[in-house]
Amino acid sequence: MDLNIRFLCPICGCPGRWRPQRSSQWSCPACDHILAPEVKEQDGSLHCAICEHQELYKKKDFPHWLGLTVLASAFAVFLLAEAYYWNSLAWAVLIGSAVIDGTMYLTVGDVGVCYRCGTQHRGMSEIAKLSPFDLATAERYRQERIRRHAGQ
Ligand SMILES: [Zn+2]
Ligand SMILES: [Zn+2]
Repeated sequence: MDLNIRFLCPICGCPGRWRPQRSSQWSCPACDHILAPEVKEQDGSLHCAICEHQELYKKKDFPHWLGLTVLASAFAVFLLAEAYYWNSLAWAVLIGSAVIDGTMYLTVGDVGVCYRCGTQHRGMSEIAKLSPFDLATAERYRQERIRRHAGQ
């Protein structure tokens, strides 16, 4: 899998994408801020390439809306086929779409997301070792962000 990092510019919030194979630095197209992201896998754990924080979670690299679209359109066809008494077709469509959905889910890779700044890491072997999203941890970082903004 292609190693790449997606993040928001810490200065202006402009979305950015960085590939270590292409260049060692990233400059923001909107505000010219220069970043030098670093892929660090220290003590067997992955560090955020942007803020160097080491609490990341993994999630499936799968857009939720895509799965829902597949299921919703299959269900529409199911109802239509049912209305015309094409029962076997109706069930084939419904089961087929569930299979497609499941396969897509299983074959996509994981993304490592930084709790602190939301940076997405792709293509690193350490991502598989991360824990899934934890609401309590995320809440802790949300509170921390609010405090940081209030203090400014
Ligand atoms: Zn910027
Ligand atoms: Zn981060």
